[in-house]
Amino acid sequence: MLRTAEITAELTGLENTSHQLYWRSRLEFTLDCFICERTGRTTVFERGAEQAQCSGSRSGFQSHRTAGRIAGFDTTTGRDRLAVRALVDFWWAPFSDTRDDRKAAAPTSHPWVRLHLAYYCPEAKESGTGSIQTNLVRPYHLRCKHCDGPLGVDRETPAVRLLDGQR
Ligand SMILES: [Zn+2]
Ligand SMILES: [Zn+2]
Repeated sequence: MLRTAEITAELTGLENTSHQLYWRSRLEFTLDCFICERTGRTTVFERGAEQAQCSGSRSGFQSHRTAGRIAGFDTTTGRDRLAVRALVDFWWAPFSDTRDDRKAAAPTSHPWVRLHLAYYCPEAKESGTGSIQTNLVRPYHLRCKHCDGPLGVDRETPAVRLLDGQR
C-alpha cells in the first residue's frame, strides 16, 4: 500500500552567516523494504526521480531500485532560519525481517533521516555541501568547509510523521 511520510527540519542562527545556505533536493530515509525483506534500510530519494534506491544490506541483498519518490519539497528561508518540509511517498507491504524476524512497519520503528545542504562561501568564492541527520549531538553547529565560518545551528531532530492519506 502507498504510504506518505512527512519529514520536517529547521536550522536557526542564519543571521550569523552570509553563505546563502539552502536545502538540496535529495534525502536519505530508512524504510522497511519489502523487496529485501529487511527493516531499517537506508533509501535514497532524489526530487524529480520516479523511483528511490534501497541501499540493500551488507550481507546479501544488493542495492536496488524501489517504489518511492519525493512527492513534495517545500523550503522556507527566513532571515534567521531555514526550514524544509518533504513529503515522501513509498510503497509498503507487510513482512517479517528475514534475519531477526522483526515485523515491518510504516514508517520503520526508528526512522532515520539525512537531509543535505549546500552553500556558497563568499571568502573562498566556492560552493560547499553539508548535511544533518537524526543521530547527531545537538545543538549541532554547521560550519563552512572553506573559511570555518558559522552556517547555521541544528537544534532539533528532524521530525518524521506518517500521513493518513491526506495531504
Ligand atoms: Zn531493499
Ligand atoms: Zn565560508
